[in-house]
Amino acid sequence: MTFYPGPSKVYPQVAQYMQDAFAEGILSINHRSAECMEITRGAIDGLHQKLNIPADYHVYFVSSATEVWEIIAQSLTRQKSLHYYNGAFGEKWADYAEKLVLATERIPFKLNELPDLQNTTNFSDVVCITQNETSNGTQIKDLKPFRKAFPEAIIAVDATSSLGGIVLDFNAGDVWFASVQKCLGLPAGMAIMICSPKAIERAEQINDCKFYNSIVFIHDNFQKFQTHYTPNVLSIYLINRIMLEISNISIISEDTKQRAKEWYAFFENKGMRCLVQNPAIRSDTVITIEGTEEEIKSIKALTKTHGITLGNGYGSWKNNTFRIANFPAIEDIEIEALIKLLK
Ligand SMILES: *Cc1c(COP(=O)(O)O)cnc(C)c1O
Repeated sequence: MTFYPGPSKVYPQVAQYMQDAFAEGILSINHRSAECMEITRGAIDGLHQKLNIPADYHVYFVSSATEVWEIIAQSLTRQKSLHYYNGAFGEKWADYAEKLVLATERIPFKLNELPDLQNTTNFSDVVCITQNETSNGTQIKDLKPFRKAFPEAIIAVDATSSLGGIVLDFNAGDVWFASVQKCLGLPAGMAIMICSPKAIERAEQINDCKFYNSIVFIHDNFQKFQTHYTPNVLSIYLINRIMLEISNISIISEDTKQRAKEWYAFFENKGMRCLVQNPAIRSDTVITIEGTEEEIKSIKALTKTHGITLGNGYGSWKNNTFRIANFPAIEDIEIEALIKLLK
């Protein structure tokens, strides 16, 4: 049983889907065949329908969230990218961009605060935001203020540990992305990148064609439901199948938020500290609990002897926190088992 926030527990149906993929010969099909195009089209339709992605936003499959950091730097940034972050993944994104773009600006903000967008005059081609910071369990719930503060910029949003778990306001951003091994409950090896018409327009103006994964090139291929490289067809197939199975995100989101509320209340009643004290920025999908090194060690050791894996702390919170994935693939009986043990 695993509560690791990525790679995380996959949906139990994945076992059958993988058998089906093998039996149906999916694993050996040509990626330019009509059959593969049909699977890709179905997966994209399913994502639009179940995650409420606006009809004019494009969905692409690439290999990882890390790759999307580079795609944004290469295809959408003329001069400068601006990075707001309070944790390890947002910071890593800035590190990747710094190697590729002419200029980056970093605006770190404190764990229990939201970034200050008052009187922002910083010009930037792209504004980079981590919607859910997996390393510390914070989230930025409302992205509209970024749109308002940077009306010209492309707003790029890393939603790797929240896409598939909560309702996201897609219109507030231009590029959204997530690897599939976190909140989407699928095996690692692919990521979803979602682009607004404004993002595509910007990519076409810049017209970067130097890389195999330049957005204009990706976009051309996806117009035909093909990919710019031989893709992880199994992963596309799994998306296709799981999207037919799950409820609409508006229903999933309510469950996720209810479960999150219960997790936070449980730990607070037990006298344990949530790393994030400000409820307004607590993540719904990654719960981070703080303690002394001794406490954290003994809780992890206890759960381990019962076959339950908790998420380790990450980065600067490595030794004094543990994390619990609150992802929809996790079943009620698993949560009950963990709660019983922790009690
Ligand atoms: C896990 C994670 C990534 C990196 O995902 P990869 O699939 O390893 O590229 C990026 N951003 C966030 C917020 C993450 O949680």
